[in-house]
Amino acid sequence: MAANEDELRQQLVEVMQAMQASGLNRGTSGNASARIGDGLLVTPSGIAPGKLTPDSMVRLDAAGEAAPGALRPSSEWRMHAGILARRPDIHAVVHCHARHATILACAGMAIPPLHYMVGVSGRATVPVAPYATFGTAELADSVVDALQGGYACLMANHGLIAVAPTLRHALLVAEEMEEQAAVYCGTLAIGGPKLLSDAQMAEIFAQFGGYGQERRR
Ligand SMILES: [Zn+2]
Repeated sequence: MAANEDELRQQLVEVMQAMQASGLNRGTSGNASARIGDGLLVTPSGIAPGKLTPDSMVRLDAAGEAAPGALRPSSEWRMHAGILARRPDIHAVVHCHARHATILACAGMAIPPLHYMVGVSGRATVPVAPYATFGTAELADSVVDALQGGYACLMANHGLIAVAPTLRHALLVAEEMEEQAAVYCGTLAIGGPKLLSDAQMAEIFAQFGGYGQERRR
């Protein structure tokens, strides 16, 4: 699982370009990070995914300081640093303003257990973290509190966040959460979803025990 710095820089480029290609992200609004040492690598501020290179990524130390000459880090770097600091079990954070997830986030609506793949979030419901201003450490606290050990949440009036042991896994979680958000929005237009029960979700998590390890390999 441990990737070296060059690999992580390359993976950050790939994650940002994958989000752009799949429509999860538009323009320069999304960002991603990976733990390295006691700090992190984070995407830079204001550079379109197509123009990113491994050298664009900004390495921040534990105090949030970048090396001289580095690009300006994402305006959301405090959120990334705060999440990584409070979640030692995860090593990657992916954030975007994917449309359907953001629609629900702006309505303050959590994604309920309407499909077994909601369980990819690690919980039966994908919660909405209370609103905090973008770029603040307060937003990191809001997200970590909402995650409660899970892998994804909506961010009120803002967007979507996914966390995982690896960048590629975090991207898969983000993609699946946007798909589930879209499915939920669709069901709301035709009378609302028929939800899975707690017992059905518990069976799904039991099946995911092996499935999740398969995905992380
Ligand atoms: Zn954002």
